[in-house]
Amino acid sequence: MTRHILVTGGAGYVGSHACKALKLAGYTPITFDNLATGWRDAVKFGPLEEGDLADRARLDEVFARWQPEAVLHFAAISLVGDAMRDPGTYWRVNVLGALNLIEASLASGCRNFVFSSTCATYGDQDGVILDEETPQYPLNAYGKSKLAIEQMLGDFGASHGMNSVIFRYFNVAGADPDGELGEFHRPETHLIPLMLDAIDGRRPALTVFGTDYPTRDGTCVRDYVHVADLIDAHMAGLKWLEAGHGSRAFCLGTGKGFTVREVITQSRAVTNREVPVIYGERRAGDAVSLVCGSERAVRELGWTPFRSDLTTMITDAWRWHQSGDYNE
Ligand code: UDP
Repeated sequence: MTRHILVTGGAGYVGSHACKALKLAGYTPITFDNLATGWRDAVKFGPLEEGDLADRARLDEVFARWQPEAVLHFAAISLVGDAMRDPGTYWRVNVLGALNLIEASLASGCRNFVFSSTCATYGDQDGVILDEETPQYPLNAYGKSKLAIEQMLGDFGASHGMNSVIFRYFNVAGADPDGELGEFHRPETHLIPLMLDAIDGRRPALTVFGTDYPTRDGTCVRDYVHVADLIDAHMAGLKWLEAGHGSRAFCLGTGKGFTVREVITQSRAVTNREVPVIYGERRAGDAVSLVCGSERAVRELGWTPFRSDLTTMITDAWRWHQSGDYNE
């Protein structure tokens, strides 16, 4: 029997890696994507259903056609800078999109839901190692929209029996260890791909956003997690739901933070090339330090993030960056 999983955002960076893992585990991933920031050629492991989460009728059609047994919801808009400029779009696209998706899922009888949330729901809690018990105080409409969806899932759990696993991502990095998929955003805003672009001359330089933060070297600290490890957690989350354990939130990071300067130093070592750098102003909306404890995911999901050291993440990202698939 074919087992279908609906993957919203399956044409994007994290979603495409999830589709590969689902396929390898014997499921058929059904990608639902409007291709606004995703790529048709990243959909390699199952069918693509083009559509927008704002379109409830289209969602109902897709649920009726494939009868998915679970939803993995990656699709979202996720740029903090844009969210500061245009909060309305973040509330509309992320929150209303998720509401349509949850209601369409329940209407079709599908009650297992895995949701991509974010450390941006915590805001800036200087020096604290964040975990699932830490109160959430998001600072911008992006983080707030994700927190609203977490709360919405709680309500639909209580009233309609929706079971959800919520993953709060820290900084996802790296690429498929087989080199088949990788990170390609346009516009690109993330540190590691921008740095690799600067290293191989696709961009003149990397601008470091702020050198006067209260950290060990003045640049922001982030907890980087390998995309393949992150997807391992999603597969374990799916099993958790299938086993009927109910709803749960998990932080996905490594408990170790690296500064922007440390990432640059490591990239020099991995690529054996210079990184052209410009030291610039702080970027609006950036938290000083975001590091999480992931004991809960380790203990309850049996999660082992064994690829999430900087060397492996940059090596995998660099391999894909240099491949023919990484193109304008
Ligand atoms: N960063 C930077 N220059 C860039 C992009 C990012 O200095 O061109 C910094 C950013 O200020 C943050 C870290 O790198 O401290 C990670 O940023 P990214 O956008 O990759 O992820 P975020 O933490 O915003 O989700």
